[in-house]
Amino acid sequence: MGSRQLDALVIGAGVSGLTTAVCLAEAGLAVAVEAAEPPQHTTSSVAGAIWGPHLVGMDARVAGWAEVTLARLRQLAGDPAAGIREIGGITSSRAAQHDCVAKADPGRDPPDQAGHPTQPVSPDPPAQPVPLDPRAQPVPLDPRAQPVLLDPRAQPVLLDPPTQPAPPDPPGPPGWTDGVGVRVRCEDSELPAGFTSGWRFSAPVISMPVYLDYLQARFQSAGGSVRYGRAFASLAAAASQVSADVIVNCSGIGAHDLVPDPDMVPVRGQAVVVANPGIGDFFIGVGQEPGDLTYLFPHQDTVVLGGTEQPGSWDRQPDPATTNRILRACEAVQPRLRGSPVLAHKVGLRPVRPAVRLEAERTGDGRPLLHNYGHGGAGVTLSWGCALDVTRAVLG
Ligand SMILES: Cc1cc2nc3c(=O)[nH]c(=O)nc-3n(C[C@H](O)[C@H](O)[C@H](O)COP(=O)(O)OP(=O)(O)OC[C@H]3O[C@@H](n4cnc5c(N)ncnc54)[C@H](O)[C@@H]3O)c2cc1C
Repeated sequence: MGSRQLDALVIGAGVSGLTTAVCLAEAGLAVAVEAAEPPQHTTSSVAGAIWGPHLVGMDARVAGWAEVTLARLRQLAGDPAAGIREIGGITSSRAAQHDCVAKADPGRDPPDQAGHPTQPVSPDPPAQPVPLDPRAQPVPLDPRAQPVLLDPRAQPVLLDPPTQPAPPDPPGPPGWTDGVGVRVRCEDSELPAGFTSGWRFSAPVISMPVYLDYLQARFQSAGGSVRYGRAFASLAAAASQVSADVIVNCSGIGAHDLVPDPDMVPVRGQAVVVANPGIGDFFIGVGQEPGDLTYLFPHQDTVVLGGTEQPGSWDRQPDPATTNRILRACEAVQPRLRGSPVLAHKVGLRPVRPAVRLEAERTGDGRPLLHNYGHGGAGVTLSWGCALDVTRAVLG
């Protein structure tokens, strides 16, 4: 840890911990990062990753964090060392209502890259997914009652429908793309077989293995130190083992035990990394069934293919049947992927919580303890906004 008295200890070397550490160190503080796992073994290294606030507990703070981060990621896209590129692509749906899954219900297997629920998953493992198709909602017995609509654009089900019902408005772009810039409705000819609607836009796509290395190097060149391999049993143990004026908890799903925080729910994601046969655009496709998700994110030499969303699963082993399903689904979308060598299998546990926990409390001996965890499927998307808020809180 070095001989200088530490101003801050950051627990965690994923995107939240490293970005926070960069901000603190660049503000002039003496900072150390400690983590059980090094950056390349974190959930952060598994992400595709694209900017877009999804699968995260939405509250008044999230849009601001996402906006700040979008600007930073776009700035960093100018630096080849950061592994970020602004590229075009499509988010698409097999359902008639493109955005219907965006109103995910707590407890449902929520969509990942493209579904982008505005509600977090339930802390309890969801036993019965709630149907999201508005047509599946029961028709109210009282005709004056308003039916519950999951998609505000959907047409209400009426007991006595007019003989000439007005055609429904065409679905708009998914809410998680709000703020990204121009979005253009896809022509049918642009959509892969089986997909019925889609939107084209551009966004920062981040090669996480490269980006995490970039963040760590930037942190170290600002004077920070890192130490990996030690898992703290509790925050009190961390505070007693490391002498630092401030502790910052960026432990991702590890917060479930470290804090402990029973509100944390892992949402397992499995991905396959293949050699890039020359694909330049991303694709995100959402099906009508829970967990029916197909995405591909091209980086320079590789493409990250996915995916899965399994709330409540702590299993970090890749499942061969899932790998097979991901490969077949992505090849159907992008036939050029056929035969691309598989380079890696990855599994990450998205740290989902009813709301991101970014708040201050005190350790048992009175030192400031800041929490920055629970970013769900949007940890990359919120990283700079959250890190800067933590830094402001530390600097007072
Ligand atoms: C398949 C998949 C796709 C995703 N796609 C996207 C995307 O496109 N865009 C997006 O924004 N987000 C995406 N996400 C979500 C994103 O990856 C997470 O929100 C983010 O990685 C969380 O980062 P973190 O730094 O908080 O946690 P982590 O990356 O999990 O890092 C936690 C760190 O804390 C350490 N730690 C934990 N417990 C302890 C302990 N007791 N003692 C010491 N150290 C400890 C760990 O070792 C690790 O270093 C995706 C996630 C998955 C799985």
